[in-house]
Amino acid sequence: MKAIICGAGIAGLTLAWWLKRDGWDVVLVERDDGPRAGGYMIDLFGSGYDVAEMMGLLPALRTAHTRVAELSYVDHNEHGEGGIAYSRVASVFDGRILSFMRGDLEQALLDAVKGRVHIRYGTSIKQVGNGSGVTVRLTDGTVEQGDLLVGADGVHSRVRELIFGAQERYLRYLGYHTAAYVISDDDLGRRVGDRFLMVGVPGRQAGLYPTSDGRLAASFIHASPDRGVPQDPRQALRRLYGNLGGLVRWTLRQMPEDGAVFYDQVAQVEMDYWSRGSVVLVGDACYAVSLMAGQGASLAMGGAYVLADELRAGAGVGRAFNAYERRMRPFVQVRQRTGRKTARWLVPSQHWRMTTRRMVLAAARLPGATAVLRAAFRPMQDSVVERPGKARAA
Ligand SMILES: Cc1cc2nc3c(=O)[nH]c(=O)nc-3n(C[C@H](O)[C@H](O)[C@H](O)COP(=O)(O)OP(=O)(O)OC[C@H]3O[C@@H](n4cnc5c(N)ncnc54)[C@H](O)[C@@H]3O)c2cc1C
Repeated sequence: MKAIICGAGIAGLTLAWWLKRDGWDVVLVERDDGPRAGGYMIDLFGSGYDVAEMMGLLPALRTAHTRVAELSYVDHNEHGEGGIAYSRVASVFDGRILSFMRGDLEQALLDAVKGRVHIRYGTSIKQVGNGSGVTVRLTDGTVEQGDLLVGADGVHSRVRELIFGAQERYLRYLGYHTAAYVISDDDLGRRVGDRFLMVGVPGRQAGLYPTSDGRLAASFIHASPDRGVPQDPRQALRRLYGNLGGLVRWTLRQMPEDGAVFYDQVAQVEMDYWSRGSVVLVGDACYAVSLMAGQGASLAMGGAYVLADELRAGAGVGRAFNAYERRMRPFVQVRQRTGRKTARWLVPSQHWRMTTRRMVLAAARLPGATAVLRAAFRPMQDSVVERPGKARAA
């Protein structure tokens, strides 16, 4: 059996690993010219942590883990406005949480499949013949044939567009834009230390935190009534965040060139069906929960694992696709709802919400708060991997 996977990101590489392990031939088609470095910080827990553990990735991911001591909100002058110790969050997850740059996770996945699957960088999918099996014409003019095609190509999926139609039908815009980039600055690094610093005013929030390789990652989220991404995102960032104090201004001054700045609308993907014929979608392509839910990578890995699991059952491609969707959908729906609610508190647009958030963070430092936090985070820890101890990879 042969699988063609479009997108060598988190979902695509995870699926490639599991299918290869089950004896499939796998071809990955990736639009970028090579592995994507950097990105933004990802917290991996729940399904993602369980799947990474089964794949034997935890040692590499622990090495990449960024040691942040505290998430601190500061004002324009870097005076503390409250925060929470990372150890407190980790204890809520019983230590089963790791934080690293998206590029580190993709590199660990890539190392796990290297030499075992064929990755075709710098090309994409132009046309799909979808029946019993698929014939895929690539943008470089070549043709691939396989038993199935998987769209693991993210929120703006090309496979989804080709098979299910224009993205406007499926993207639910949450009212925010986000951006991220990585810089090197030793002085600034000393100022930030081991904190994840957040500077915010209603409707805008900038973050700065250390990476495990000694650099700094900057992230931005702001409310925007317009879903359209600005023509010049770098200029938009300077305009929107230039008045958030010296720390942010300095970070903006060091913004890298265009290609190294991630900028996108914050959206979820909602679809009635995730497959058609021999084509199926996985990860953000069909069920993006958005950064507001903070679990997209975990669900991308979880979904890839479940899809491979159902294909292994051998009931045929169509049945496997349906069973995968049935297992994943309830997890996705809960997290999408949570993401929509959380947005108002992660990037409050009103002063009263910012004040309430400060009070909640202060309360989280009180003795006994861990039990409350544990209850609040419980649904986030649910995993699509049932009884991980019994489902270990060989
Ligand atoms: C700022 C930010 C913070 C986040 N924080 C977290 C977090 O803390 N925890 C968490 O779990 N999730 C987080 N997420 C979400 C997480 O990054 C995504 O949910 C996850 O990356 C989805 O993985 P994916 O493989 O489905 O898609 P992607 O990671 O988007 O990968 C898609 C791949 O397909 C490739 N591709 C795209 N189009 C084409 C094409 N036409 N042809 C070929 N290849 C193509 C891309 O280059 C890429 O390699 C965050 C997201 C953002 C933006």
